[in-house]
Amino acid sequence: MKCSICRNDIEPLLNESGQVCWDQGHNPAPIAYDNIGNLMPEDARCCNKCNDGAVTLRLYQAGMVKKYRVPKRLLKGLPK
Ligand SMILES: [Zn+2]
Repeated sequence: MKCSICRNDIEPLLNESGQVCWDQGHNPAPIAYDNIGNLMPEDARCCNKCNDGAVTLRLYQAGMVKKYRVPKRLLKGLPK
């Protein structure tokens, strides 16, 4: 499975025994645009790395992170 944002492979999450326990990636919301500026489908999924950005943006939208602490490349992914 490919990340809808960066197009890299989505690495499966492993449990303590090393077995795959989740391989469907993460919900990238509120990121609506991929790295090259295309609007993503509603069923977009993202990798662990991009999910960190999505979480940061959720905190930003909730007013818990100041704008100057959010990388500009992430702000570009927000819905217009
Ligand atoms: Zn990604």
